[in-house]
Amino acid sequence: MSNEFKDWLDELKNAPDGSVDHNRWLCYKYPWLIPHNRWTDEEDPEYDYNYTELDSMPDGWRRTFGEQMCEEIQELLKEADWVDKYRILQIKEKFGSLRWYDSSVPESIRERLDKVIQKYEEISARTCFICGAPATKISMSWICPWCDKCAAEQEYEAFEPIEKYFKDQETPYADGATFRWVSIEPFGH
Ligand SMILES: [Zn+2]
Repeated sequence: MSNEFKDWLDELKNAPDGSVDHNRWLCYKYPWLIPHNRWTDEEDPEYDYNYTELDSMPDGWRRTFGEQMCEEIQELLKEADWVDKYRILQIKEKFGSLRWYDSSVPESIRERLDKVIQKYEEISARTCFICGAPATKISMSWICPWCDKCAAEQEYEAFEPIEKYFKDQETPYADGATFRWVSIEPFGH
C-alpha cells in the first residue's frame, strides 16, 4: 500500500461520522456494508456512499459499537475467506434491542459469528439508542433503551427503570433463562 493511498484512507477514516468520505472508508474496509439489491444481489450502479447498511442501526448504537461490531465480524469473515460473499439482510431495532440478520456463512464460523451478533444485541439493550450512553430507562409505548439525559427531553413518554423492566421480562421463565431471540428472520417485521 503506497503512503499516499494510506494517507488518503486515514483522511476518509477521520472524516465526520455519517459523511460520504467516512462511508467510503467503511465500505473499503467492510465491503458488505455496501447496499445490495436483496433480490438480485446487484449493487446499485448509482450508489454514491450517502449511506451504508450500518445506517439502519440507531445512531447511539452505531456510534458506540457499530464499527467495533463490524470489525469483529470482519475478523471471522477473513478467516473463512467470506468477506466478499457476506451480505446484510437487515439491521434494525426491535423490542428495544438490535437485530442483525445476515446471509449464510461457512459452518466453521457460524457459531462464533452468532455469538458476536448476540453479544452486541445484548449490549444494545442497555445502551441509549439516541446518544449511546449507558441506558437507565426503557420507554413503554415503544420499547427502547434511554439514558437519563435523553429521556428527560421526552415530555410525553412513560419510562420504567431498566433493571425493573429486565427483571419483569425474566419472571415468566421458571428455568431462569432470560428472553432470547432467533437470528434468522428472512423478511418483514
Ligand atoms: Zn442518551
